[in-house]
Amino acid sequence: MSETDTTSPEETESVAAHLAARLAPGDVVTVSGELGAGKTTFVRGACTALGVHERVTSPTYTIGHRYHGRGVEVSHLDLYRFSGVSAAEWGDLEPYFDDAIAFVEWPEAGEGVLPPARFAVRMRHADDERRRISIDEC
Ligand code: ADP
Ligand code: MG
Repeated sequence: MSETDTTSPEETESVAAHLAARLAPGDVVTVSGELGAGKTTFVRGACTALGVHERVTSPTYTIGHRYHGRGVEVSHLDLYRFSGVSAAEWGDLEPYFDDAIAFVEWPEAGEGVLPPARFAVRMRHADDERRRISIDEC
């Protein structure tokens, strides 16, 4: 487990880039924390490090995005609006996990349904600009 404080979005992206270097297709990374904690910023930093050139935006109003990185596919899911994941919903989600590195914001709704995470990232506000990021290898 590692714990770091960051004082800017750029610093959070850099922490994410270090984690990204350890990931391979099939890895799931859950990213939890309250609204505004910096989850999407973290995923953006990881995606950039993995060679995604598209602008990584919050998929809150879609199930997710799937991007082409440098020799790897990267998915970004956001389960904010889910209270659980039914079998039918899992059918929609499954392709995002297939042969990709998958980042999942608001993973709580998918507990027991999503493939097990390799890393669990937890973020919280320490103060206005400061975020505390803990990363557990599961
Ligand atoms: P979430 O996905 O958790 O709701 P976002 O990444 O969308 O959060 O938004 C985080 C907001 O906080 C952004 O506006 C970002 O610029 C700001 N911010 C300020 N300081 C930090 C920091 N240290 N790390 C990440 N984001 C930060
Ligand atoms: Mg978000």
